[in-house]
Amino acid sequence: LTFLGIESSCDDTAAAVVRAAERAEILSSVVDGQAALHAPFGGVVPEIAARAHAERLDLCVERALQEAGLGLGDLDGIAVTAGPGLIGGVLSGVMLAKGLAAGTGLPLVGVNHLAGHALTPRLTDALAFPYLMLLVSGGHCQFLIARGAEAFSRLGGSIDDAPGEAFDKTAKLLGLPQPGGPSVEAEAATGDPRRFAFPRPMLDRPGCDMSFSGLKTALLRARDGIVAEKGGITRQDRADLCAGFQAAVVDVLAEKTRRALAIYAEEQAPVPALAVAGGVAANGPIRAALTRVAEEAGVRFLAPPLRLCTDNAAMIAWAGIERFRAGGRDGMDLQARPRWPLDQSAPALIGSGR
Ligand code: ATP
Ligand code: FE
Repeated sequence: LTFLGIESSCDDTAAAVVRAAERAEILSSVVDGQAALHAPFGGVVPEIAARAHAERLDLCVERALQEAGLGLGDLDGIAVTAGPGLIGGVLSGVMLAKGLAAGTGLPLVGVNHLAGHALTPRLTDALAFPYLMLLVSGGHCQFLIARGAEAFSRLGGSIDDAPGEAFDKTAKLLGLPQPGGPSVEAEAATGDPRRFAFPRPMLDRPGCDMSFSGLKTALLRARDGIVAEKGGITRQDRADLCAGFQAAVVDVLAEKTRRALAIYAEEQAPVPALAVAGGVAANGPIRAALTRVAEEAGVRFLAPPLRLCTDNAAMIAWAGIERFRAGGRDGMDLQARPRWPLDQSAPALIGSGR
């Protein structure tokens, strides 16, 4: 099966071609990021994102096909992110996918962006269902048992901000460039994580729910404390703040992952595997901590390569193939959905969306 994938749910316009036989192969993966467009505003501006997607999507698809050395006629299906995300962008992608499907007669498969992230470890590795997934991105943070292409059970997650959001806000507070994750990680590398004692929220509570919004307040207070004392912050202050912040996120994610493994083990022991995905999974210290947690628990650990952790269309093409194999496909009535929880049985949860 060879699928075209289209992604436009946030601030990356992306198209990719994935071929799946015995093993999956990414034939092309084009990601046209919009960071420069949104930089002056200190965050993603939905209207600007929607317009940029509309302008760039068809070119992205053309490039993806060209780099794969294929034409539309060589494809077996078209997968597109149908949500959750910024509705203007999602609509652009869904409209383009519908047009392509109508014009070629190819099957159309709408994909949940989060399923794209959560299924990525199966694109890169031979990994069978079920497995425990820590999905940790710009807008989401949750522990899921991945049971099938469209079957996910939520064990817990952030009750407020997502860690990616916290990284982005930290960068903004400290005058570092967006996206905040990579800039805070780079800054933290030269900082002392022990200088500021940031809170590790909810570690005293059972279960694997988390909270990250208090961290931002603590960081703001620490920064203002330094400014009040010395009139400004030095490069070293900034590095120490980043290191302290990142260490707190690492500790919370590591401890809550231990608990999620224990909760899952009550249902199925030994736990088959732990996988991580989403943009924050690109973070070195977080990956290292999770690797240790899995090792301690004697559980296989998988983390996709960095370029497949952040938004891309290869994961969408792959999730489309997975859904199609399971019998899923859509008609011209496919809707763009701004909110779309992965665990359909879960009540509307705070912290499961932006
Ligand atoms: P969602 O998938 O929840 O809709 P999104 O698509 O915007 O959100 P991703 O593209 O998966 O999120 O991830 C982007 C987030 O990952 C940003 O918040 C960014 O700061 C964060 N991120 C990227 N690289 C790193 C890193 N090295 N360390 C920490 N965070 C990172
Ligand atoms: Fe994402």
